[in-house]
Amino acid sequence: MSLSREQMLVEMGVAPLWVLRDQARQQPASVAPEVPAAAEPVLGAELPALAPKPASVQAPPVAATEAPRPRPVMVPGSAVTVDGLDWPELKTQVAGCRACGLCEQRRQAVFGVGDENPDWLFIGEGPGADEDVQGEPFVGQAGKLLDNMLAALDISRGNKVYIANAVKCRPPGNRTPEAAEMAACWPYLERQIALLKPKIIVLLGKAAVHAVLHDDKSLASMRGKPFEYAGIPVVVTYHPAYLLRNLPDKSKAWEDLLFARRTLRERMAPELPF
Ligand code: SF4
Repeated sequence: MSLSREQMLVEMGVAPLWVLRDQARQQPASVAPEVPAAAEPVLGAELPALAPKPASVQAPPVAATEAPRPRPVMVPGSAVTVDGLDWPELKTQVAGCRACGLCEQRRQAVFGVGDENPDWLFIGEGPGADEDVQGEPFVGQAGKLLDNMLAALDISRGNKVYIANAVKCRPPGNRTPEAAEMAACWPYLERQIALLKPKIIVLLGKAAVHAVLHDDKSLASMRGKPFEYAGIPVVVTYHPAYLLRNLPDKSKAWEDLLFARRTLRERMAPELPF
């Protein structure tokens, strides 16, 4: 059964449904919704077309607030080369890859899923047991939560969204992938990003942050800050599996998604449908 928008926001832990500021002004004060000060005030409703901001309040570009970050450092001897591979070639190579020890216990490599011409690229950690069986990232309970997060933004894994992982093969026991495993697998993710050309990247959890930004700071210290990879804005938030164990942090993840959406809107054209 599909959820309504309000149910999805309840699922995200950010109910009551937030409404457009203009709509709120039109309501009597006694029924106007309370909006957390730190969160974006426009939720749960279609956004109006954006008028250009006055120069005095124009947000600075992401690059102006964050120093360029070094590309991830690969372990010497990584067996993976992907130069010039197209989508079919890349998928074939991933399916047969044995470049690190994670190939030993996988049922199948989990390449990624979604719109191959996306605005959004979500990157998680690695396949879990369900993903290993089904061959798709973010299925099971964590996947349902991610789908609800996407739906609350009026996007979905097949619509303007692509979902991938830092490693393509399941770490035994669902452990966190090791740095060497992420480095071995990085050329695949790097090539995916080059082919996808997303307009924004959302990193779900520390492993994804390590893989893409090569940064091991705490997620708490990186949330709400703009980063870049290859000229693409990058936003950091919690992994859905973590959110299932730490329900109060769902609202923080929702704030992060709104920050990502705001970053995207400020960087890109206002004709984007959100
Ligand atoms: Fe190859 Fe990546 Fe799987 Fe390791 S995790 S075997 S590098 S596809």
